Amino acid sequence: MKPFTAIFWLLFSLAANANAKVNVVTSTTDLASIARMIGGDNVDVTSIARGTADPHFVEVLPSYMVRVQKAKVYLKLGMDIDRWAAPIIDGSRNGKLVVVDCSQNIAPLEVPTGKIDASMGDVHPHGNPHYWLDPDNGAIIASTIADALTGVDPAHAAAYAANLASFKSQLETHKAAWQQKSEAIRGIKIVTYHNSWPYFARAFGVEVEDFVEPLPGIEPTPSHTAHVIELIKTHQIQIIGVEPYFSMRTPETIARESGAKVVQLPPSVDGAPGAQDYFSLFDVIIDRLAAAR
Ligand SMILES: [Zn+2]
Repeated sequence: MKPFTAIFWLLFSLAANANAKVNVVTSTTDLASIARMIGGDNVDVTSIARGTADPHFVEVLPSYMVRVQKAKVYLKLGMDIDRWAAPIIDGSRNGKLVVVDCSQNIAPLEVPTGKIDASMGDVHPHGNPHYWLDPDNGAIIASTIADALTGVDPAHAAAYAANLASFKSQLETHKAAWQQKSEAIRGIKIVTYHNSWPYFARAFGVEVEDFVEPLPGIEPTPSHTAHVIELIKTHQIQIIGVEPYFSMRTPETIARESGAKVVQLPPSVDGAPGAQDYFSLFDVIIDRLAAAR
């Protein structure tokens, strides 16, 4: 190759690299939404799980492995909720993949003390993994993602830093609006299908008194259902919140017997109409709770 041609190809490949988007695959839509806001035009982001899917259980498909094979970064929730990501990542045989655990800087709630065994249901040893449902944790996730993108794509470090700052300031604006709006639900007592809401409850002053599931990941039983009906009556609980991936049958039975209202609550982006990104997700959850009381 002539020197001129060599230099041309060098410059050409540098330019092509600078323009190539960072291919990011995430476990869930919430991580994808935050990654899009931090990555902006420099990333291409897709989520494995859909917003209406149960994040604990995702079928491992070869097409997911193919997607991860082409990715530069994988963002997982961690805390054992997306254990299904491991066989997808292994199956992708992508030796250069940067796997980022987005729970790394989160202060977990409900870390079990003592020994965990099967009789406790699907209890997570590192604590409750539904941490993205506190907006303050959203800021921590955003910082983790900004660090990861800067690590694999230092040429756009300034853009990622600017997008992170913008995310945090938008989050503060939204938080002020959510706090005002959530006055309508502050202090309300609810029952939810699964234990998905402790971070949300802490952030917005909602009291989750019990679950339709007798234990995490265990189907409702007649005796536990009877117990929940009694609890709703004696504690004047108004709302039964149901994640979109659970059957409405038992919640509707409980509602009929107790007088509480069933409300579908999306825990993830794209889990309901209007919840198209990480910010609007909180609007939809708060609005649905406020409308039901
Ligand atoms: Zn869970």
